[in-house]
Amino acid sequence: MRSVEEHQRVVAELIRARPAAMVPLAEAQGLVLADDVVAQLSLPVFDNSAMDGYAVRAEDVAAATADHPVSLPVAEDIPAGRTDELTLQPGTAHRIMTGAPMPAGATAVVPVEATDGGVESVAIREAPASGKHIRLAGEDVAAGTTVLRKGQIVTPATLGLAAALGMAELPVLPRQRVLVISTGSELVSAGDPLRPGQIYESNSVMLAGAVRDAGAAVIATATAGDDVEQFSSILDRYAADADLIITSGGVSAGAYEVVKDAFGRAGEQGVEFVKVAMQPGMPQGIGRLQINGAATTIVTLPGNPVSALVSFEVFIRPALRTAMGLPDPHRPRRPAVLAESLTSPRGKRQFRRAILDADTGSVTSYGPPASHHLRWLASANGLLDIPEDVVEVSAGTQLDVWDLT
Ligand code: AMP
Ligand code: MG
Repeated sequence: MRSVEEHQRVVAELIRARPAAMVPLAEAQGLVLADDVVAQLSLPVFDNSAMDGYAVRAEDVAAATADHPVSLPVAEDIPAGRTDELTLQPGTAHRIMTGAPMPAGATAVVPVEATDGGVESVAIREAPASGKHIRLAGEDVAAGTTVLRKGQIVTPATLGLAAALGMAELPVLPRQRVLVISTGSELVSAGDPLRPGQIYESNSVMLAGAVRDAGAAVIATATAGDDVEQFSSILDRYAADADLIITSGGVSAGAYEVVKDAFGRAGEQGVEFVKVAMQPGMPQGIGRLQINGAATTIVTLPGNPVSALVSFEVFIRPALRTAMGLPDPHRPRRPAVLAESLTSPRGKRQFRRAILDADTGSVTSYGPPASHHLRWLASANGLLDIPEDVVEVSAGTQLDVWDLT
């Protein structure tokens, strides 16, 4: 049997980074910058008013006080967005709004609160210092400055800066594009009635959620019955657009194992089916496919829902995040003290659903170990990581917990 670490290495090797690319801002959030970003524009773009008020020459109102206001004729009204270039004549004021361009010749803005708010002429009750309430061009960003560094994660604020600089795209390591295929003739989609022997399909919904949670993109989800032709036609339709195909089900030791049947026969497609020394999630498969001229990686997960999701956590999530250059590809591992005694299968690394109490550092297993008990996983906040060689763990033992929160 292959160790968990060994299979992690094999999967990580085949989930490869896409070349850096310019990506529209709306799709770039959460990705890693592949390059430094140099501002092509200054911010502010032009000298503009920081207040709603009056643009003046400071010396014209140097004598203004609350008791002896200085009155000036208002020669222009400048709302934000006015695009003609204005000049302030000595001895006049321009009414001006926040963000509106300063007229040439003005050296200060008097806030409306320090005036009578006049439209024809204005009484100014305060003498501003030269430069007061003017936002100077380039004081935030001077054109030519490196404003973002390669390796930074694109956040909402990053998007805001890029947009303010007039950029429509950012250079990033693109999202991995993932196709999720569930297999099983017993599977029915929500909304359809269940006939005897059928169950609702849940893995594709769950794995697609896990793919997005890992920061990658789902290009499609599909379900195939245990029928090689049907399975192959889904691959034909979508695989060329995918960097990674994840399948669930059809890889165990029984009959009607559609995924094994699709690739296992001649082995020419290069999918390797292995047993990994873990529970849940022993039957695993990995390979590269050539479909319609495109090479795509495929990871085949077992069908039991808990096995599928735990396998995703252990093998695929860290590899996807690494391929996208994201920090912390691995879930944080927290040492915690076991609050109960447990047994674990010999020779297998066991991942038990767990509730971790971050305040006390204590952990309890949550639900039985069997791999169809989805309910417990849905409310667990950790995976208890019990080493291969351990068969009994007594209460009080320290173990690693993968923090899923
Ligand atoms: P398999 O690996 O195909 O033998 O499936 C193992 C178990 O997982 C069976 O009980 C299946 O019915 C169940 N299973 C497989 N795929 C799914 C799925 N997509 N949604 C829900 N249950 C599934
Ligand atoms: Mg099946």
